[in-house]
Amino acid sequence: MIPGARLVVLGKQGAGKGTQCVRLARHYVIPHISTGEMFRAAVKGGTEFGRKAKAYMDTGELVPDDVVIGVVRERLDQDDTKERGFCLDGFPRTVAQAEALEELLSPRGLDLVLDLEVPTDVVLRRLATRRACQDCGENYSIDSPPKSAWICDSCGGEVVQREDDNVGAIRRRLDLYEKETAPLIAWYMRADKLVAVDGIGSPDDVTGRLVRAIDARRARHA
Ligand code: AMP
Repeated sequence: MIPGARLVVLGKQGAGKGTQCVRLARHYVIPHISTGEMFRAAVKGGTEFGRKAKAYMDTGELVPDDVVIGVVRERLDQDDTKERGFCLDGFPRTVAQAEALEELLSPRGLDLVLDLEVPTDVVLRRLATRRACQDCGENYSIDSPPKSAWICDSCGGEVVQREDDNVGAIRRRLDLYEKETAPLIAWYMRADKLVAVDGIGSPDDVTGRLVRAIDARRARHA
């Protein structure tokens, strides 16, 4: 294991990005940067910014590009990401965000973009049964709940259904994924940055595939 990497994980909502990014962040000793988690923390903190973001999030709409890019710019400007890199989860989600990221990271750029592939019927079921810790964001499902009734195994927070995991918002988020985010797959493929990874299987199996893809790419560029 070599610490440090600049990674983006793409994938539909419910593809397992959050779970896998936590694991990749531990493996490569890099910060996990989830824009969704940053917005949820702002909502919980009751800030003016959080109040505005909530209106978009609850209906499954995308927070405007300039707002998201501003938040990511500030985060990438911190020493830990400059020194060790990052695993970006949920960003970029539009071509404008991907272009802004290129600019922010210039001249070195990203090491690799991983596209976590999971069919839509599978993510629909995962989203409908998903539950998440209100405090740390750890994901569970009604099929694999925390050990003690809806109390997070990791931090003791309350495990609930996310407000945007309702039928209308799920449909809207998946539509927006196809329209705004899926074009990034071809965009990063053209830049020779993309590797597709099968997202079906146990979390350990999927992590193994991701790590093999990342290490193979790093060996190629070593
Ligand atoms: P997530 O936890 O990644 O599913 O994000 C939850 C919600 O936060 C999304 O449905 C959007 O409303 C908002 N959000 C997160 N990341 C972005 C982004 N990169 N661009 C626009 N909106 C975002």
